[in-house]
Amino acid sequence: MTDIIQLLPDHVANQIAAGEVVQRPASVVKELLENAIDAQSTSIKLVVKDAGKTLIQVIDDGIGMSTTDARLCFERHATSKIKSADDLFNLHTKGFRGEALASIAAIAHVDMKTKTVDAEIGTKITIEGSEVTEQEPAVVAKGTTISVKNLFYNIPARRNFLKSNTVETRHIIDEFHRVALAHPQIEFSMIHNGSDVFKLPISNNRQRIVNIFGSKMNEKLVPVSEETEILKVEGFVIKPEFAKKSRGEQFFFVNNRFIKSAYLHHAVNAAFEGLLKEGAHPGYFLFLDVDTKSIDINIHPTKTEIKFDDEHAIYAMLRATIKHSLGQFSIAPVLDFNKDTGFDTPYEYSKKQPTAPTIEVDKSFNPFQDEPKQKNITFPFKREEKKSTASWQSLYTGLESESTIVDQTESIEFESEEVTGTLFENDQEENLRVTFQLQNKYIISPIKSGMLVIHQNLAHQRILYEELLKNITVQEAVSQQLLFPLQLSFSNPDVVLIEDLKEQLEHTGFVFSQIKDGTVEISGIPVSISESQVETVLSQLVTDIKEEVPDAGFSQNDLLAKSMAKSMAVKTGTALKQETQLHLVHQLFACKEPSVSPGNRPVLITLDANDFDKKFM
Ligand code: ADP
Ligand code: MG
Repeated sequence: MTDIIQLLPDHVANQIAAGEVVQRPASVVKELLENAIDAQSTSIKLVVKDAGKTLIQVIDDGIGMSTTDARLCFERHATSKIKSADDLFNLHTKGFRGEALASIAAIAHVDMKTKTVDAEIGTKITIEGSEVTEQEPAVVAKGTTISVKNLFYNIPARRNFLKSNTVETRHIIDEFHRVALAHPQIEFSMIHNGSDVFKLPISNNRQRIVNIFGSKMNEKLVPVSEETEILKVEGFVIKPEFAKKSRGEQFFFVNNRFIKSAYLHHAVNAAFEGLLKEGAHPGYFLFLDVDTKSIDINIHPTKTEIKFDDEHAIYAMLRATIKHSLGQFSIAPVLDFNKDTGFDTPYEYSKKQPTAPTIEVDKSFNPFQDEPKQKNITFPFKREEKKSTASWQSLYTGLESESTIVDQTESIEFESEEVTGTLFENDQEENLRVTFQLQNKYIISPIKSGMLVIHQNLAHQRILYEELLKNITVQEAVSQQLLFPLQLSFSNPDVVLIEDLKEQLEHTGFVFSQIKDGTVEISGIPVSISESQVETVLSQLVTDIKEEVPDAGFSQNDLLAKSMAKSMAVKTGTALKQETQLHLVHQLFACKEPSVSPGNRPVLITLDANDFDKKFM
């Protein structure tokens, strides 16, 4: 039999390898930015056209390359960053595999200009599908400019597989954020289709976060800082009351490299336990420094995953540190007794003992108190009643504090007042006109067959949703003019989103006097919201829209109405006057679909008198 094995030609091998390194334009952005950082640049500029499908260009002022290196860097396994396998255990650079440029050059048109500081003249080199088509001397400034054009031009399947420009741009911006956040000491800018998206001056961690995410981020940050033998943590967590329903800002950096870690994420979650509303995710920017010898980042081709030698200790320390920070900034009004019996930390603080968080707890509240007594009670229903009262009270406590945190009650046209108790005496008149509020959450009304329990927040969402949808699609709503226009700052991509939705938003009653440069100026708002709510409504909207992007075929109007209804609706924990309760009930029953919320949850339930009868037998 003849020999049948042959070696793959280099360009084919490179194309295959490229599949691993380059999944989409954002992967190229990441590799090029990281190379620029490794080259000790102080200023890095990213230029993108058509979501990177036409052009990705990175301009740096780093150490540059010699003429020989300029050619060699496109060879596979060409790297200046490691020389032996031992170096792998002591990495201080982002790259080390020497694969990125070879991979990129195999699937795009690349040209590069580069010059080292002491060279008189630089080099220009052009490569198409791994073939060098041109190399000549060029007069250029110190540093490297690399342009990647027509990505996947020779792999149509890949090109067709790319998502819409919105989605691909989102990925690029995510990569840009990650790199820029990890290196505040470097100046970054990004230009997309000719307009500035980011201009980030040299700064510190906090300023960099604010420059990227907008000035309102500043007040949301709680500093985190701790240092032990095994780990140094710096950074910020976002105050629990600003936590989003989406996994918004969640960043871990280990030795200045963005990483994903479900395990560390879990540690942060654990620190936030009891402080977040249901469905909310903690936000964080955490910069960890560990000994390079104690981690392995070589386990994933795109290098966003990492292995720590000392995982458990890091988990425990992270959790304790964040808890401490949250406690110190007295953001932890109510803590779960069960979970907070000291820090069961399996690690040792060798430098200093963690100070227990100074958290205010209601000392009189003891969830275990009823337990032993209950064992002696033989009356089954009484026991049940007791139990539910206990959890009731705790729920109530939680709600109270929740409502003070949210504290947008004043902004809603309903007025707050103490309603507990007194309402119970009112129900002598005809049943249908009577309502009372339970736990500042439910509106109860007697009906013929028993009683009606309405979830106030979900009910209001339904009412607002139908109203907003009508305004957007059929008739425009009136708006209230503001005496002084409201100026809100958003990140540039968010401003673009708002601009896209301008028309629909105007139908709901918004009047925009100017939208530009990260600022949205508003001179009129819908009558149903107050000035203080505007910011929440718009940022929630932007978040919701971003979340929805990958889904094809959603109706933007529907999404807009849902999102606004959700953030405008009267919150759980808000006390409602009886006339307001009645009004809400009447409005609800005037809706087309009163029984489900826009998010498809039940708005009301009925409890049958027969059910009560059974309980009294
Ligand atoms: P790696 O980064 O893993 O070493 P790359 O393929 O990304 O592999 O780059 C190959 C080599 O090219 C790098 O090791 C570096 O020496 C050189 N290089 C790449 N980009 C730049 C740049 N912007 N400035 C200076 N040198 C660079
Ligand atoms: Mg590299």
